[in-house]
Amino acid sequence: MLAAYITHPDCQKHEMGVDHPEAPARIGAINDQLLITGLLDYMQSYEAPLASTAQLEQAHSPLFVRDVEAHRPSSGYVQVDPDTRMNPFTFQAAKRAAGAAVLATDLVIKGEARVAFCNVRPPGHHAGRASAAGFCFFNNVVVGIRHALNVHGLERVALIDFDVHHGNGSENILHEDPRVLMCSTFEEGVYPFSGAVPMGPNMINVSLPSRSGSKAFRASVSETWIPALEKFKPQMIFISAGFDGHREDDMGNLGLVEDDYAWVTAQIVKVANTYAQGRIVSCLEGGYVLSPLGRSAAAHVKVLIGAD
Ligand SMILES: [Zn+2]
Repeated sequence: MLAAYITHPDCQKHEMGVDHPEAPARIGAINDQLLITGLLDYMQSYEAPLASTAQLEQAHSPLFVRDVEAHRPSSGYVQVDPDTRMNPFTFQAAKRAAGAAVLATDLVIKGEARVAFCNVRPPGHHAGRASAAGFCFFNNVVVGIRHALNVHGLERVALIDFDVHHGNGSENILHEDPRVLMCSTFEEGVYPFSGAVPMGPNMINVSLPSRSGSKAFRASVSETWIPALEKFKPQMIFISAGFDGHREDDMGNLGLVEDDYAWVTAQIVKVANTYAQGRIVSCLEGGYVLSPLGRSAAAHVKVLIGAD
């Protein structure tokens, strides 16, 4: 069974200004690496559909979804927070990014793909139930999770977030949902300055000091995530795959390298194979320097699809 690769040209039409790090070229940087390394040969490509309003409302308040649509400019930009702005294509791109997570969930649960990787933007993990922030509009991965739970009827789903920033939007939406276990590592003292105290018992938050490096990152995963995942026994695993903890990415200072992303992916695959019939959906979050972003995503996908 092939792995699914989901993206859409609309994801490159959303842009927030020439100097903004969350740039359209991120999609191509990942696509190029997957192509050069031959990994796309092992994957079935799909175009991301638009998430429906009902699907978005599984994660967000109806008023918020209407609000994002209402703020869509016909030209120029609309500022959403100091770091986040909409252009005329943002709303469409955001619905594609969330729709990718929905399609990925459908393919994996129906057994049409064993795993799926969504190369989409805007990212999602800073988007809360009623808030867009930190380059994010809709919480793609949470839309997928709620689709798995509420539409497909799964009872236990895990969310793994290894982006360098705390997934505060995901925690905001999921902390009162006992059907979800969220495990994350993030750098302390950087945006969004949250996560030190978990909001619920289903949140495994590991705040890592700046320059922690590979060893501390891997120890956190082995000592905190894995025991919690083994106890929870997820039926499916979602990944907020952010690669901005890479040592060449100036958005953070955790000092990770490609091999750390391969390693953590292998740990997740092992849990998925034991409890979740191997079912994993991975959605792109951060990663802003194009070369390490492409290399890290390829290292992740290679293990995810079992081509390592
Ligand atoms: Zn990030």
